[in-house]
Amino acid sequence: MTDSYDYDLFVIGAGSGGTRASRVAAAYGAKVAVAEEYRVGGTCVIRGCVPKKLLVYGAHFAEDLADARRFGWNVPDCDFDWKVLTANVFEEVDRINQAYTSTLTNNKVEIINDRAIITGPHGIKLGDGRELTARRILVATGATPSVPACPGHELGITSNEAFHLDAVPKRMVIAGAGYIANEFAGVFHQFGAHVTLINRTDVILRGYDEQIRDRLLQISMMKGIDFRFHADFRGIEKQADGSLLVSMTGHDPIETDCVMFATGRDPNTKGLGLETAGIEVDAKGAIPVNDASQTSCDNIYAIGDVTNRVQLTPVAIREGQAFADTVYGGTPRTVDYDNIPSAVFSHPPIASVGLTEGQAKNKFGSVKVYTSDFRPMKNVLAGRNERALYKMVCDSTTDRILGIHMIGPDAPEILQAAAVAVKAGLTKRAFDDTIALHPTMAEELVLLR
Ligand code: NDP
Repeated sequence: MTDSYDYDLFVIGAGSGGTRASRVAAAYGAKVAVAEEYRVGGTCVIRGCVPKKLLVYGAHFAEDLADARRFGWNVPDCDFDWKVLTANVFEEVDRINQAYTSTLTNNKVEIINDRAIITGPHGIKLGDGRELTARRILVATGATPSVPACPGHELGITSNEAFHLDAVPKRMVIAGAGYIANEFAGVFHQFGAHVTLINRTDVILRGYDEQIRDRLLQISMMKGIDFRFHADFRGIEKQADGSLLVSMTGHDPIETDCVMFATGRDPNTKGLGLETAGIEVDAKGAIPVNDASQTSCDNIYAIGDVTNRVQLTPVAIREGQAFADTVYGGTPRTVDYDNIPSAVFSHPPIASVGLTEGQAKNKFGSVKVYTSDFRPMKNVLAGRNERALYKMVCDSTTDRILGIHMIGPDAPEILQAAAVAVKAGLTKRAFDDTIALHPTMAEELVLLR
């Protein structure tokens, strides 16, 4: 299939999307190479979803150990060893990295451990100077933490470095109030750090349902996480004793031991040579693509975070699969971006699918909203005053479910199944007709009023 090119397909970036596209294209018979400048697996496996979720599991033990006493266990005072947890997490990351690598090599994908840049519609140049050609190029380079250009920003870290801290800082300031800020605030708080989130507005987790966000804010504050709202991050100064002084608008400066920026992620397009193929990036540096993930250069495609459509791993994987099926498998597919479930692994976690109440009102006028605001049974016995909130937003004329939003223990585990119902266009009636599975938290979904 190679014509006069070195490869049928050259993929830049072996993250979740790039790996899926490479493997599937190769399985269809294409000669494929994938260039990865760091480690196979990309953000999700190496420094994102996977190690983060393992830290979240680790963090949960803080409350579980405390609650265990109410369930009759004589738990002695326990120490937490950050080094033990992170060493085990890195071991698991290595294992998945190896599994991804084997998947590629078993499917005859050539892995090139080097940076690759585009030199023209069919041209690639590697970091070692080698020049290669490919009939098609797929850009799957992901995104990178965006750090504001304020004085002293180099004294801060991002989620990339958070896993590699020598110890849990005593005090931590996190800039931003989105996914990463709330997830890491929960984790480091449970490990004993005093955490303060600094946000330019008073909206946390923009895009999530307002009542759910408010509940997280209330529980986070109750747990002892501090917030500074309407605070524009101004800069970081190192003090004589080694601590950091963070300044912001509207509030007094804060002394801390660690500053983490969680202020969004920028598509990785800098220095990629896109202009040599006539591809222009948008204002955010993302690559514009059509429904088939095709750029303005016919034979160059882009998937995943670098396109800034929906920055979620499973979406990048779907885009990679759709690309390979369409171009190499003779089965044209596009990705359906409606009703994508998502979760925030905060303490407690949030999970959501479909329209929020606000979005649904804007789109449909009047909507019906059903809620259950309850204290999970385990929290009651544990003496933990944390209430869960489940919410269903329905079309008031057809009763069709437009969105489900949840905060509470295991909300993401529960929502995945409920998302199938939303995607299938089911109505509230279908939930009402289903007998509750008692006693669970999930039963609240069929008992919503
Ligand atoms: P988010 O977009 O979730 O949040 C960014 C936060 O930073 C917001 O509070 C935003 O405020 C604020 N912000 C943005 N720019 C600035 C600025 N210049 N100055 C001050 N504040 C700023 O990004 P994250 O970095 O948390 O995560 C990046 C992406 O990674 C997410 O969008 C998500 O797609 C993905 N992700 C998904 C996870 C999951 O699925 N569980 C977990 C982690 C990441 P404002 O709201 O005002 O814009």
